[in-house]
Amino acid sequence: MKHMTHTIKHHLTDALLMAYSAGSLPEAFNLTVAAHLSMCDECRARAGAFDTVGGALMEETTEAEMSKGSMAAALARAKATPAEPRVQPARDGVLPAPIQAYVGGDLDAVTWRPVGMGVKQAILPTERGATARLLYIPAGAAVPDHGHRGTELTLVLQGAFTDATDHFGAGDIEVANEELDHTPVADIGADCICLAATDAPLRFRGLMPRLAQPFLRI
Ligand code: ZN
Ligand code: ZN
Repeated sequence: MKHMTHTIKHHLTDALLMAYSAGSLPEAFNLTVAAHLSMCDECRARAGAFDTVGGALMEETTEAEMSKGSMAAALARAKATPAEPRVQPARDGVLPAPIQAYVGGDLDAVTWRPVGMGVKQAILPTERGATARLLYIPAGAAVPDHGHRGTELTLVLQGAFTDATDHFGAGDIEVANEELDHTPVADIGADCICLAATDAPLRFRGLMPRLAQPFLRI
């Protein structure tokens, strides 16, 4: 499996793993977390620990017969309807299994739409509130300079990119928020393919990206 050869440096936060375990993430974020887990043994082990803690908490509160509408009841409901698919083993191919389930296959099944400067995207069919998109950044090309109004998760599936914070290779996940402004640039040598999930529109510096924004839902 080619994406396992790279050592993953950038992992999921505890907050994301906890929310994933509780089933409280929007679908687009849920998918991105599941995709990282399918590529990362370390986070899979941490996710297992959170599941255990959540389960123990649930048992205790059931014994105490918590009232309906309480946090525990909400957690119990989330547990009763886990956001499947849970962690699936990685498959051969560029796209991890959780993403393949949305695309209906690997990369050759993706319908790309140009977003300018050679960058292409494919928006995946998730519920409203957060958006998941595959991004295709040609080797050496850049995503226009932008800030974030909410949270942006970017998981590298192929190739690598660099921004002001660090270098991100296959399996790495970048968690960006309001404080970060960046211009991700794909490494020379390989086209970069990412899964990006956002819960609010990005804030672009340049005029052209701003004009195109409503049409691209980015
Ligand atoms: Zn990880
Ligand atoms: Zn960003």
